[in-house]
Amino acid sequence: MADYDETQLLSLVVPLYNEGDALHAFFARVVPILESIPATRFEIVCVNDGSADDTLAKLVGVARSDGRVRVIDLTRNFGKEAALTAGIDEAFGDAVIPIDADLQDPPELIPTLVEKWREGAEVVLAQRASRASDSLLKRVTAAAYYRVHNCLSDLKIPENVGDFRLMDRIVVNALKQLPERHRFMKGLFAWVGFSTVIVPYERESRCAGESKFSGWRLWNLALEGITSFSTLPLRSWTYLGSFIAMLAFCYGMYIVVRTMILGVDVPGYASVLSLLLFFGGVQLIGLGVVGEYIGRIYDESKGRPIYLVKRRYQERRPQGRAAGNGRIISLVAGKRN
Ligand code: UDP
Ligand code: MG
Repeated sequence: MADYDETQLLSLVVPLYNEGDALHAFFARVVPILESIPATRFEIVCVNDGSADDTLAKLVGVARSDGRVRVIDLTRNFGKEAALTAGIDEAFGDAVIPIDADLQDPPELIPTLVEKWREGAEVVLAQRASRASDSLLKRVTAAAYYRVHNCLSDLKIPENVGDFRLMDRIVVNALKQLPERHRFMKGLFAWVGFSTVIVPYERESRCAGESKFSGWRLWNLALEGITSFSTLPLRSWTYLGSFIAMLAFCYGMYIVVRTMILGVDVPGYASVLSLLLFFGGVQLIGLGVVGEYIGRIYDESKGRPIYLVKRRYQERRPQGRAAGNGRIISLVAGKRN
């Protein structure tokens, strides 16, 4: 085996939003797997993203009995991307692995991810071998999305890769330097680069509860992805506008010449009205696209934090570093921000 450092720390980052029902199964399955990885310590950074159920109470209970579990409680629901950012910011690990709480990302894959990391990969991507566990609609829209995104954007995001991956500390530090508020994590993960290895896996169905991503939320995520990584939708209006102006010019010339030859032709109400409405519509669409970008510039310019932490629940330990197998002294609620 490689000569890795005995004190390597692995951070699992888990965003949780109303996952009270899935929690028990999650820890029961994840902890033994993490314990089985040789020569590592681990911490599980749980980010409670403003859950309305008993997620926080259950998490604090787990943190109380297991010093390797830390809880970051956000002030409200900021969305998965922000919760993930919070967890990544708070993680101490030499390698960081974001994972969903619903066990759709199989924790059994973690030892393989770690192995590839020890072999030298800076990023180890878990790629879904198939989308069999998804509905037909989700499969079709996901495939269409990747195609559109990768066609519009210079930055290609790998298909069927979620947030489940392993990142070395240097990658995490690079990621932490990206200040944007609109965080399309898949895109940001891809943007930072580094040497990458892909490991295929089968995605399971949710172990409890239901998906928090409705069609509308997914649509907004898709818009976020495209506007964050491409200005082609903006620029395309220049070309579309030029093309329509050229057509309009040709048509104008034709009308002028025809009027000079055949005289004034009064009828034409229908064609004038339909052209008027058509171009009105085209202009509004253009304005809408511009608006999407301006709205995002406005959000970025306000410079608000991506998330706010209400409390941190973790053991207080002699050395202060919040991971490892230290003795439980007390459970404290840390406050910051
Ligand atoms: N999640 C979150 N905040 C949200 C929505 C989701 O932290 O506003 C978490 C959720 O608890 C889960 C992960 O993000 O751990 C993935 O969510 P979900 O399973 O609903 O998404 P899907 O698997 O359907 O894409
Ligand atoms: Mg899920």
